[in-house]
Amino acid sequence: MSSFVWCHGPSCHKSHTQDRIRGVKGSKVLRTKKVQANNWGDNFNMYSYFCSQGCYNDFANTHINSIIAIAPRLEPLETPINVTKEQVQYRWRDGTYTNTRITTVDNDVG
Ligand SMILES: [Zn+2]
Repeated sequence: MSSFVWCHGPSCHKSHTQDRIRGVKGSKVLRTKKVQANNWGDNFNMYSYFCSQGCYNDFANTHINSIIAIAPRLEPLETPINVTKEQVQYRWRDGTYTNTRITTVDNDVG
């Protein structure tokens, strides 16, 4: 026995694919796809509720204001970094170029 959820994509049932066709001749429909609950084990993610990236995007774009309200970003986040410049020798010809190296600062020390 398999359990499933219906894809949450608002337009899933409008995609013209053969695997969405249901019904008998004369009364056929395109139906929202099933998403098998065991597709991704216990590791729930977007594919636990959506049949495709496209359906996920459709849902997110349709409900974007509600989604942002879950965790609004009112201030920017920052990652402390060190920036160093180094001259690196080309491998295929003479000369050097400047390489910018960005490393994150580990704030957990001390
Ligand atoms: Zn879908």
